[in-house]
Amino acid sequence: MADTFLNLNNYDGKNVALKKQILGLCITGGDYSIADLSKELNTSIPTITKLVTELIDEHFLCDKGKSGTSGGRRPSLYGLDSSAGYFAGTDVCRDHLSIAITDFKGELVCFEEEIPFIFEATDRSLDAMCGIVTDTIEKASINRENIRAYGFNLTGRVNRFSGYSFSFFLGEDKPISDILEQKLGATVFIENDSRAMAYGEYIGGVAKNEKDMLFINASWGLGMGMIIDGKLHYGKSGFSGEFGHFPLLNNNQICQCGKTGCLETGASGSALYRIFMEKLRSGRNSILSAKFEKGEDISLDDILEAITEEDMLAIECTEEIGTVLGRAIAGLINIFNPELVVIGGKLTVAKDYLMLPLKSAINKHSLNIVNKDTAIRFSQLGNRAGALGACLLSRSKLLGLV
Ligand SMILES: [Zn+2]
Repeated sequence: MADTFLNLNNYDGKNVALKKQILGLCITGGDYSIADLSKELNTSIPTITKLVTELIDEHFLCDKGKSGTSGGRRPSLYGLDSSAGYFAGTDVCRDHLSIAITDFKGELVCFEEEIPFIFEATDRSLDAMCGIVTDTIEKASINRENIRAYGFNLTGRVNRFSGYSFSFFLGEDKPISDILEQKLGATVFIENDSRAMAYGEYIGGVAKNEKDMLFINASWGLGMGMIIDGKLHYGKSGFSGEFGHFPLLNNNQICQCGKTGCLETGASGSALYRIFMEKLRSGRNSILSAKFEKGEDISLDDILEAITEEDMLAIECTEEIGTVLGRAIAGLINIFNPELVVIGGKLTVAKDYLMLPLKSAINKHSLNIVNKDTAIRFSQLGNRAGALGACLLSRSKLLGLV
């Protein structure tokens, strides 16, 4: 699909590769002059001029005017053409969908969050989900024919190469991406949610020029996306980054994966929920005590809200999981020597209370010579990271850059 997008048949192989590289540079680096592209790609000015002209004719690039540097002849700059089409990214969460639409330049043109939806691996559920996505596109006054690709983030194990999800089983033995493609009539990419969020932060979020970045998705579960040397890391089958199932703990807690002692059982939204509820049951006091005593259900969202209202018990539990998470991140820092660790996901609403135990555990447990290179930041995109990441990743996949 990526090759037909760039009309492979019209060019020889080398030029297609070079055109993709030009687009790749514009995605990460913004607008370029012919001379800078020539230098970056180690290719002659005439060849770059020819390729840029073709990319302009094909509406992938456009002339952005003269560069702002003063003095001498100011060169023209070229960058991605926002009118080259749109990408629709859907973050499929536990009980809702978030949908983003970006233009070809990667600018967000629409974002709908927390649309109530429980995803099930049934044909009916997929139809309903596609209906919500196409309604959102329509509401944004975008012609569906201009959607270049759709991206869907799923939790758990996803093989993006084959298009199969190993966490949601469909009745028929067909990749979920093929089924969605049939329903939507355009290219569909599926991805692990944490990896899409990592890509969102890398291209359009908190990362500046860091090429080695770990993104920690601290939500109900605990996931990770890795950017290594500027590239999203997949592993052999796309299952890399199962940070939540790192067997670090001796707490005898059974994880959702069926094993015991997984990191997720001590450092995630589900761990926060379990620890908080245990303390509440043992008689500890909280602003949620009254609700609990009335026999009403308490959700993770209730606990997160209690944190923002400075509930002491909720804060204490947050600090507890922050310490465990920090210790595990210290291990990651020792192994990967990353330039940047980004903490994202639902739990970041508690960042004021997470940062201190996290940093203190990281300092305590990581090697000083390694951790002094590493910046720790919270996500910039917040709850948009997943859906925006799905858009940006779909664009890169369609162009054959990822
Ligand atoms: Zn596990």
